[in-house]
Amino acid sequence: MTSRITVKTLLILGASGDLTGRLLLPGLARLVSRGRADGLSLVGAGSDAWTPEQWLERIEESFADAHSQAEAYGRRELKRIRESSSYHQLDVTAEGQLAGLLAQLEGPVAIYFALPPRVSQLACEALAPGQVPAGTRLVMEKPFGSSAESARHLNKTLAALAPEDHIHRVDHFLGKATVLNILGLRFANTFLEPVWNREHIEKIEIVFDEDLALEGRARYYDGAGALRDMIQSHLLQIMALLAIEPPASVEERDLRDAVATVLRAGSIKAPYAKSTRRARYTAGSIGGRKVPDYANEDGVDAARGTETLAEVEVQIDNWRWQGVPFILRSGKALGIKRKEAVVTFRPVPHLPRGFTGVDSPNQLRIGFGPDTLQFDVDVNGPGDVLSLDRATLEAELSGSELLPYGEVLEGVLTGDPLLSVRADTAEDCWRIMEPVLKAWARDSAPLEEYAAGSDGPDSWPG
Ligand code: NDP
Repeated sequence: MTSRITVKTLLILGASGDLTGRLLLPGLARLVSRGRADGLSLVGAGSDAWTPEQWLERIEESFADAHSQAEAYGRRELKRIRESSSYHQLDVTAEGQLAGLLAQLEGPVAIYFALPPRVSQLACEALAPGQVPAGTRLVMEKPFGSSAESARHLNKTLAALAPEDHIHRVDHFLGKATVLNILGLRFANTFLEPVWNREHIEKIEIVFDEDLALEGRARYYDGAGALRDMIQSHLLQIMALLAIEPPASVEERDLRDAVATVLRAGSIKAPYAKSTRRARYTAGSIGGRKVPDYANEDGVDAARGTETLAEVEVQIDNWRWQGVPFILRSGKALGIKRKEAVVTFRPVPHLPRGFTGVDSPNQLRIGFGPDTLQFDVDVNGPGDVLSLDRATLEAELSGSELLPYGEVLEGVLTGDPLLSVRADTAEDCWRIMEPVLKAWARDSAPLEEYAAGSDGPDSWPG
């Protein structure tokens, strides 16, 4: 396959970090082993005094899976990129250090800020505009800021360093195939668009329930919580794709314009005790695995009151969606893993007398990873023709041969910002969530409890 990359060097800041080892390097390996990053050089940097061997070992470990699956050509490419890679020790926040390294690298360079958010901000501030060569791509991880104000500040800092189409704000949650699956479903089927509105849809739920607990990530998660970690970023992006107006094309500009427009119409209405809910897990067990009380997990400051499960009701104030609740929910340590959007249609206005068996409205379920589609309809099943049966039409949707971070990196290396969050959208997502975060800080919605392994607090309807 011909490689279409326009970047010569990928510089990963935070080479020793969790993201780099667990997600970034394996994603890169998928790309490289499929001939989709030919000619790319890899450079790692971090504050640790690593030997070159330590860095190469890390790459080798992270490349192992892709290596075992690759054909001869892919294995040669993996070897080439590993053996030509180098590691540099530096403090990215110290003036001149990152700029000094940049000046030595063959451009164009993509700088991946796999750093704690605060360090990324300081690293960008330590760079002067003249020190970032034209063509450099800046890749920022989530969370993008911690409030509308800090996101604005970070956007301003970045805008001084590179043009917007060279800034990639990563949201790895939806891969390209998933995004295109949602758009294909919505805009390539005549029967859906006429009913895709407030007249026919009662509510849309977007759920990301994990059966994993904290898994040693207290340092990050305890300061974030479910609302910031998942809902403010990933789930709002899915909501936008389900709610956008038909774009002229599925190219970056049309699509990101449509996403920005619909998010601008979104808000969560007070009183927040009614439109939001939050809870924290207590001790329990998941699939036979014992989980301690969140408050007793290593590194947690229980007094912070961090929620591990959150649910908010977003309203989109426009003609299409007025009054339709978008319910966004995400949590950890739940009994069942669920990653889906559920569209609930309104009940039929009149069921001809004589029919029985219709007791719930039609639902369309879009599953994420693996991508699936299920449509619940009422039909004459076997037996009594007047007694209707619930049937499910199912389809498996197209997947991607790349890992999510392989797709993120391909977007960066080929200069396609389609999957990246645009500056205005990044700020708008905070605008939607900030009033809730402030209200929760004033205790205006109680922090409830649920046992790990359950499906949430008993008081929450299923
Ligand atoms: P880690 O804490 O594991 O790694 C951070 C890295 O930054 C370390 O390599 C650290 O090196 C380096 N670092 C810190 N300060 C400096 C400095 N002044 N100069 C140079 N290097 C420095 O974090 P993660 O890898 O987990 O996360 C990185 C980013 O990715 C965060 O923004 C996070 O929100 C995001 N993210 C992470 C995910 C994950 O699963 N881990 C998932 C999605 C997003 P050292 O240890 O030597 O200081």
